[in-house]
This record gives sequence, structure tokens and C-alpha cells, in this order.
Amino acid sequence: MNRPKRMLVENIAWARETADSDHAFFPRLAEGQSPRVLWIGCSDSRVPAETVTNANPGDLFVHRNIANLFSPADDNVMSVLEYAVRVLKVDDIIVCGHYGCGGVRASLLPASPDLPHVNRRIAPLCALAQRHRGELERVADADERVNRLAELSVLEQVRALRETPLVRDANAPPRVHGWIFGLHDGRIKVLATGYPDDQPVLFEPEPALETAGR
Ligand SMILES: [Zn+2]
Repeated sequence: MNRPKRMLVENIAWARETADSDHAFFPRLAEGQSPRVLWIGCSDSRVPAETVTNANPGDLFVHRNIANLFSPADDNVMSVLEYAVRVLKVDDIIVCGHYGCGGVRASLLPASPDLPHVNRRIAPLCALAQRHRGELERVADADERVNRLAELSVLEQVRALRETPLVRDANAPPRVHGWIFGLHDGRIKVLATGYPDDQPVLFEPEPALETAGR
């Protein structure tokens, strides 16, 4: 069976299981959407927004592109933002990068002549790397350098989003958060929170639960 066919078979199974476990699920989905969160993430196949946050269809309004970049000059991301803020009136915008990002890595390497579109997309990342050249050069390990630039980039997208008139001048401006996902352990680290005085989320297992075999 070819892969697309297998995906269609899986779709039938998923639709059946979902309807069986919650008869109102699809009628509810068909009524309309009211997600409270806009997710701006990387296109990387390993960071699917719903899966890594245990979310369901209807929970997240999602925009993904190479290296989770935001630019007011990009009509694609701006149209998503406009709809999210003005129509859906989301409460939160989450920029989620990830460690080991290929787009970020590419911005630290010579441009590939085979990838003119990618090169254009990641040009702002190359400029960001230039601006932080001193800090990045002090990171000896190449992978760690990519990871640090991925963090700096998330913070840069958060800053740009907060400054965008669409967000800044909204009647109830959404909170903008900056997160980064670790491929090595599946955990998300908060780099910037939209809440004042927010504390980091820590879900380390309680010793009592551990001894109870949980
Ligand atoms: Zn990526």
C-alpha cells in the first residue's frame, strides 16, 4: 500500500475511533472554531503543535513555516495573525521554536544555490546571527551555537509580534509567549512569557509518586 493510501486508511480509523469515543465530537467541530491560541511554529515534522501540547482539533490556530519566523512584510503570516486577532480574538500567541532547527542551522552556513526560496526566507536569521556574532562565536560547540541562535530568534519573533500594530493596538492585546521545544526529551522551555511575573512551569515527578510506582 502506498503511503498516501495508508494515510487515508488511518484517517478512516481515526474518524471512526473519535466518533465512537465522543458522539458529539464531529457535530461540534462542524459548528465552527473558537481556538484561544495562535501557534507560530516551525514546519519541522518533529514538532506538531497539537501532539506536543496534547491538544485537540479546534484548540489551536496554527501557522508553521521554516524556522518559525514572523515578519510584518510576510502576507502569509500576517493574514493568519490578522484573522487570529481580529476575528478569533485569541488570548495567547505562542512562538515555538525548537532545538536542532535545520532552518536556523542553514542561516549559519553558506547559502545553498539549490534553495533560493529558503535562502530568502532565512535572510532575517542570517542578519540576527550577525547582530549576535560576538555571543555566538563564544559558543564553541556548533550544535550549541545553532541552539542559542534558535533561542535568540524566538525572542526576536516575540519582540516583533508585540510591536506589530495589529497586536499592540488590539482592544484586548493577546499575550505573546516564546517557547522552545527539545527534540531530545520532548519538553518545552519557556523563553518569554506573556504574563507579568510568571513562574516557570515545572512538572518534575513528586518523590511520593515515584515511590508509588507512578
Ligand atoms: Zn525548525
